[in-house]
Amino acid sequence: MKAIIAIHNTVLGPSLGGTRMWNYTNEMEALNDVLRLSRGMTYKSSVAGLNLGGGKAVIIGDAKKVKSEALLRRFGKFVNSLGGKYITAEDVAMSSRDMEIIHMETDHVSGLPENMGGSGDPSPVTAYGVYVSMKASAKETWGSDSLSGKKVLVQGIGHVGEVLVSHLTKDGAKVYINDISEERIKAVADKYKAEFIAADKMFDLDIDIYAPCALGATVNDDTLAKLKCKIICGAANNQLADETIQGVSVGKKGILYAPDFVVNAGGIINVYYELEGYNRERALAHAEKIYDTTYNLFQLAKKEGIPTYLAANRLGEQRIEAIARINAVI
Ligand code: NAD
Repeated sequence: MKAIIAIHNTVLGPSLGGTRMWNYTNEMEALNDVLRLSRGMTYKSSVAGLNLGGGKAVIIGDAKKVKSEALLRRFGKFVNSLGGKYITAEDVAMSSRDMEIIHMETDHVSGLPENMGGSGDPSPVTAYGVYVSMKASAKETWGSDSLSGKKVLVQGIGHVGEVLVSHLTKDGAKVYINDISEERIKAVADKYKAEFIAADKMFDLDIDIYAPCALGATVNDDTLAKLKCKIICGAANNQLADETIQGVSVGKKGILYAPDFVVNAGGIINVYYELEGYNRERALAHAEKIYDTTYNLFQLAKKEGIPTYLAANRLGEQRIEAIARINAVI
């Protein structure tokens, strides 16, 4: 087994982040990925107000070919050797069953199935966080947080996207959907009376809100040249192809960008409550705070004259610096 665990920061608490299994071409590529991802977790947990630091793990290899009980248990021993400084969870090519196997060797695992005392599928909590974040973005843009009558495009109607569509339709929004899965389109379009839009037409659509809930990097120079929305707010990770470029150009186009790691923190919030003995009501109540966090970061961005993605990073850094100072007091 070749794996790397990156512990980026533990000022706020033990580092938590998923394990990704990927067939990296070399170790340097794996190292770069795990360092970048662990840093992202530090910011995400800090802004979400969790007492968690940032960490991440990668196992190098093709999951379809080399994943086995022995490999996962060896990885579990590796996690255990860190004595709780790093807590693992699911990520790409890992399942809750894999977490059960890792759990045979270590207690420092989250994201276990509900029948093992775990928190189960985080998607409803993530979708709720996206929904409240969207309302805060509406309040900032139009002065009211009502989504009634707003035209929202949800790209990717999987676990998170579908629940988001259900919140939006209950609020009376006009929902457009796009997905590459025929099956998902049929299921969601019929159930919620949402309108399907083909991929080649969706960025030409006259909409109020774009909610990327499928993949990263869908906000790039090409799509931004066409996008006619006022708000971008969705669940996908790394929505901006390059945050230093589109993070600035969204604002210049008059689009309010709700930073992805703030918006989609419901997933990590859900897992956090598993560590304390899971209670979905408490997880949802915490996810509701994403409304205030989103709204406050917009105010910070305006006050400082900086893009919203930068304001989100600042919020994350400010909390870590403040807590590091009190930790230094004996
Ligand atoms: P999912 O796999 O259940 O759903 C993704 C959907 O996107 C699928 O229906 C898939 O068919 C569709 N899709 C894939 N490629 C597409 C494309 N090119 N165009 C249109 N649709 C496409 O995933 P999910 O759990 O709903 O997560 C959605 C996104 O949110 C992911 O980017 C994930 O990393 C992120 N996220 C999820 C959670 C969570 O709690 N599940 C938490 C944080 C972030």
